[in-house]
Amino acid sequence: MTFEELGIESRLLKAITEMGFEKPMPVQEQVLPVLLAEDTDLVGLAQTGTGKTAAFGLPAIQRLDTGNPSTEVLILSPTRELCLQIAKDLKQYSKYVEDCSVVAVYGGASIEVQKKELKNGAKIIVATPGRIHDMIRRRYVDLSQVKVVVLDEADEMLDMGFKDDLDAILEQTPDTKNTWLFSATMPDEVARIAKGYMNNPQEITVGTRNSGAQNVRHCYYLVQAKDRYLALKRIADFNPNIYAIIFCRTRTETQEVATALIRDGYNADALHGDLSQPQRDHVMNRFRCKNLQMLVATDVAARGLDVSNLTHVINYNLPDEIEVYTHRSGRTGRADKTGISIAIVNLREKHKIKKIEAMIKKKFEQLPIPTGMEVCQKQFFNMIHRVEHVDVNYDEINPFIGEVVKQLEWMDKEELIRRFVSIEFNRFLEYYRNAPDLNVKEKEERKAIEKKAKNTVHDDSGMARLMINLGYKDKIQPQRLIGMINDRCRDTKIKIGKIDISELFTYIDVDGNYANDIIEAFHGETYRGRPIIMQAAKSKRKDKDEARKSYQEHKKTQGRSYNDAKPRNDRRNDRKAEKRDRDSRKKRRR
Ligand code: AMP
Repeated sequence: MTFEELGIESRLLKAITEMGFEKPMPVQEQVLPVLLAEDTDLVGLAQTGTGKTAAFGLPAIQRLDTGNPSTEVLILSPTRELCLQIAKDLKQYSKYVEDCSVVAVYGGASIEVQKKELKNGAKIIVATPGRIHDMIRRRYVDLSQVKVVVLDEADEMLDMGFKDDLDAILEQTPDTKNTWLFSATMPDEVARIAKGYMNNPQEITVGTRNSGAQNVRHCYYLVQAKDRYLALKRIADFNPNIYAIIFCRTRTETQEVATALIRDGYNADALHGDLSQPQRDHVMNRFRCKNLQMLVATDVAARGLDVSNLTHVINYNLPDEIEVYTHRSGRTGRADKTGISIAIVNLREKHKIKKIEAMIKKKFEQLPIPTGMEVCQKQFFNMIHRVEHVDVNYDEINPFIGEVVKQLEWMDKEELIRRFVSIEFNRFLEYYRNAPDLNVKEKEERKAIEKKAKNTVHDDSGMARLMINLGYKDKIQPQRLIGMINDRCRDTKIKIGKIDISELFTYIDVDGNYANDIIEAFHGETYRGRPIIMQAAKSKRKDKDEARKSYQEHKKTQGRSYNDAKPRNDRRNDRKAEKRDRDSRKKRRR
């Protein structure tokens, strides 16, 4: 089918052809004939990036009565970025349609300027719910003649708490309007909205409900929690042309990971709610034009960032609510391209993969973390590929070439290649020479956890005593310990009893039913670089001895930080460099 066969009129055809739309995407093939032919409500279940803006945008424009100035279409979207993107798309589609004014109304910009724009006439308003609700209250906007309301990314809007705004806005629109709702997922809340606001909506599903995009591969790497960052670096190094969003759970984690990546020489930056709007715009623009290869972001901040050619989506941590995974992974594999969604998980989080598989109805592949040598090999051939494909400025280089050839005459071709490649390659070899294997040996790890949980004793009230190798010496407080447990066992509320802190270790009484969960949750974790031991309490003497041993072992290796698993050589070189710096500073002072 062509757009013309689907019923798109010539003025719109001309514009979308100029935009490079050759044939309709599946969602357009299904939605366009319905919305162009009849007055109907519609629920469209489609991922972002499937072409749904044109699926609702083209009929919305084609059905306008441009003979009068009243607003006829209201499109609601969850974020400012998405709102601007939709408005931009609609302006392009309607390039050859006279009197089709599209106005974007969103928070974080001058309300007076937007008021003026509305006054000049808006056939189509694209808005975020909070701002348009505000404008309705101030009577800046008249929605009484609206014929079509589009709720785009309805699940996101509800997730972001816009339910009350939506109610208030829709109340201002006539009952005769048509409502077109688009959503990537169909949680109960969205189903309720569809039922409450719409009359017999036609339902169109592209792909399966709540499914991941079709052309996305879902993979996971199993690592110890402490190795998460190193695993991320391996993934980045193994994919030299990576263009990815890395999702973290919190703003702090987002900033930490981005800072570490930048410090380690990667082309990365952070996007989270602690940044001001201009700072966020700046980072997003750099990412959009590929000046940044990796964007470390929270879910909220990344909403509305429209990038269609990502190579990877990386779940540095899986989201608390698994539905969010669909949104994350749906950011790659857009517009008929293929993409990879990666999750870095530890043993305890593995069960989440199963839940997600059931939701998206697709299997994850478990991939081994590449070894140091595999990374080097990949980088090596990538360099050779770059040599083959680099643009050579013959005019600028030719004047020097004669002299250089003479100078290198004594080398044969192979030696020459070796040397040129080594200039960049040595850095990787050096780093990865003694790189540890980050793959978790699942059976062995499970055994180790079982051993730690062995002999957990429950008292009469069902509480069990655990020992953790953190104490006064670590300035640990009961509140902090409770926080650490809650943070790691987020899906359950665990009763915690007496906390008895000694110099090097602490006894914590916990609900016996969850003792094993807690032990597993702390397995492989570190505290300020020191491996945490969390296990069933034994005797005071044994526990103290064990805690002291771990403390002393760690002290020997102190001075290593986030980068702590850097290969020995690197650390030695770092220390040498620091010493050189110190010496030269001393010299200068003298
Ligand atoms: P959307 O889901 O509307 O954000 O669209 C995702 C991307 O696909 C956007 O960059 C659109 O410009 C592009 N797109 C939409 N429809 C088509 C089409 N029929 N042919 C080519 N590209 C399209």
